[in-house]
Amino acid sequence: MKFSVEKVVGGGRLGSILPGGRHEASVIETPMCTLFTKVGSAPHLGYEMLKRVSNIPDVATMSLGGLAAHHESVCKFGKGLGNFTALKSNIIFTTLHDASSAVTSGKNDRNGVAVWGKGGKFKMDPSLYVKVQEAFRPDWFQALSDGDTDRDTGKKRLVKSVNNTLDFLDSTLQLLKESEILRDSSLIGAIEGGFDEEERQRSARETSARPVHGFLIEGFEKGHSGLDLFSLENFSSLLTKTLSCLPEDKPRIMETAWSPLQVVKAFQLGIDVFSSVYPYMLTQKGQALVADYTIPPKSPSANLESEKSEDSSPPHSGSVIDLNGKSNFEDFRPVLPGCDCYCCSNFSRSYIHHLLNTSELLAYVLLMIHNFHQYFHFFCCLRNSAREGTLEDLQTSLELQNSCSCHTS
Ligand SMILES: [Zn+2]
Repeated sequence: MKFSVEKVVGGGRLGSILPGGRHEASVIETPMCTLFTKVGSAPHLGYEMLKRVSNIPDVATMSLGGLAAHHESVCKFGKGLGNFTALKSNIIFTTLHDASSAVTSGKNDRNGVAVWGKGGKFKMDPSLYVKVQEAFRPDWFQALSDGDTDRDTGKKRLVKSVNNTLDFLDSTLQLLKESEILRDSSLIGAIEGGFDEEERQRSARETSARPVHGFLIEGFEKGHSGLDLFSLENFSSLLTKTLSCLPEDKPRIMETAWSPLQVVKAFQLGIDVFSSVYPYMLTQKGQALVADYTIPPKSPSANLESEKSEDSSPPHSGSVIDLNGKSNFEDFRPVLPGCDCYCCSNFSRSYIHHLLNTSELLAYVLLMIHNFHQYFHFFCCLRNSAREGTLEDLQTSLELQNSCSCHTS
């Protein structure tokens, strides 16, 4: 993998990734998001349904939690995870943990890291970890890391987390020298250190000194916590100081469940690659993205929604609506008027409300299509906005839409 920055706008990097390996001809523009998957497929969507979504990201993240226990079967299959899961045209990026879940804490030590799937705990030392990756043959893979930390973690544990992660990385690099199968795969180093500036910067400097192709910033929360990291006083400055220790020519990745507004903020701090776990989290709650990303907003959804806010329960937000609310009962508009996704082209809010009320799985299929469609579209708008110099306007517009009533993230 190769990464280059074309232009820096408001602190954010407009860049491009040459993924290399079997995707030698591809060029991926950043800022970008990856396709969030559950056990190797897009949540709620079979392969045929996923194809109805526009702007599907080139890179699909697959967390080891639900997959690692099956590595022997995938090894026998012999063609790697992409072919095994029908996402063979995507760049496969294996990560340790499912970005939508909290990590079960206290199971990592200097010998290895635990990941969790439906079958329970699966603990890997560097040797087993490389064996799993050889079975999966990913294009990119996250280095084994001890990210079981958050803002409450004490210094002693943070030092251990950084040390463990660096030791795992050194052992892995040693093992990779012997691996023909992973020769063309890109190793993504993990940056740890919780909320401690010294440890964060040590982790960043030491990891950069090793031959990794990019960086995954983790260890701010134990898996998905639902916390808005930007609401914490020192998060932004800590992230900035951490990124300042990383080289310019490698991408920085964060898998936090971030709304479009939070993505704009993180992009301006220097993050290049994001997860699309946020639209999945909304879908699970029966909610839909309805933000307007045009500059200036053409018909702000904030205005549309405020017309209906008196009788909605719970009140509609300007950027997210809740399809569980009774106000949707006779609302025959699409989820987002003007959206050209399969869901909005064919179904009404009233119908999705009915599906949610009767616990029909189709509700989640349709909402996943719409939410992915809108989130992927947002990244096109973010890149355009950065190119055209309207990033501040985009942020202001999203802030206004978010403040029109309670936000759900
Ligand atoms: Zn739609």
